[in-house]
Amino acid sequence: MTLAGKTALVTGSTSGIGLGIAELLAKAGANIVLNGMGDATQIESIRAHIAAEHSIKVRFYGADMSRPETIEAMFQALLAEFGSIDILVNNAGIQYVAPIEEFPVAKWDAIIAINLTAAFHTIRHALPGMKQKKWGRIIQIASAHALVASPFKSAYVAAKHGIAGLTKTVALEVAEQGITANAICPGYVWTPLVEKQVPETAKARGITEVQVINDVLLAAQPTKQFVTIEQVAALAGFLASDAAASITGAVIPLDGGWTAH
Ligand code: NAD
Repeated sequence: MTLAGKTALVTGSTSGIGLGIAELLAKAGANIVLNGMGDATQIESIRAHIAAEHSIKVRFYGADMSRPETIEAMFQALLAEFGSIDILVNNAGIQYVAPIEEFPVAKWDAIIAINLTAAFHTIRHALPGMKQKKWGRIIQIASAHALVASPFKSAYVAAKHGIAGLTKTVALEVAEQGITANAICPGYVWTPLVEKQVPETAKARGITEVQVINDVLLAAQPTKQFVTIEQVAALAGFLASDAAASITGAVIPLDGGWTAH
C-alpha cells in the first residue's frame, strides 16, 4: 500500500490509537498532520521522529476540537500548505463515566462537542478539496459503543451512535465522487482513555479496579483480550487504500466479538 503524495489529518493523534494510525499512515508515505493535547516538548519529539523516520512532512496543530473556530483556523492553515486533506481520521475523543442523574452537564457538552460535533466540522472543511481531487477517505474512530450501550456512559454512547449516523449520511452524499466514509468500532483498547475510566467505573459500579478490568472491560469481549492499537491502525490503513474503494457507509466492529452477543 502506498499513500505517497496524500496528506492525512488524524485528530487526537498525540497519544493512543490516533498516534498509532498516524504512524502507520506515515509508514505508507502520507504527509501527516498531528493534532491533540499534551506536553509541547514531547509532541515535538514525536513529530520530528515520525518526519525523520519516513522522510515525509509532519505538522502539528493543537486545535481544540471542542471549538468550531479553532477547527476552522486549523483547516485554513492546512489547506494553504497542503491544498487538501485527502485522508481525514476523526479520532479525538474523551470519556466520562457516571450515572445519568449525576452526569456533569459540562462533561456531556464536552463529549458531544469533541466526540461528535468536531467530526461534522472537519468533514465539512475537508470535503471541498476531496471533491476537487475526486478522491478522499473519511475514517471515523467510533467504538463498539456506536453499536451497543453500556450503563454510565450516556454522553459517549450518544456521541458514538451519532458518529455512526453521520458516517452513513456522508457516505451517501459523496458516494459518486471517489470519497468513502467509514467508521471503525473498536472494543476496549488499552490506552490512557481506558486507563483513566477504570477508577471512575469502579466508583460508579461499587467494585474494585481489578474487577473493572476483568468483569466489565474484558468480560465484554469474548476473546478476553484487549484490542491493540496496531490492529485498529491496520484497519484504518486498509480503509485509506485504493483496495477499499467499494467499502463506504460501513460501521465496522473490531471488538473481539463484543457486539456478536
Ligand atoms: P487517548 O486518550 O489515548 O487519546 C485521545 C486523543 O484525543 C489524545 O491525543 C488527546 O490529546 C486528544 N484530545 C482529547 N481532547 C481533545 C480536544 N479537545 N481537542 C483535540 N484533541 C483532543 O484515547 P484513545 O483510547 O486512543 O482514543 C482515541 C479514540 O478511540 C477516541 O475517539 C475513543 O473514543 C476511541 N475508542 C477508544 C477505545 C479504547 O478502548 N481505548 C475503544 C473504542 C473507541
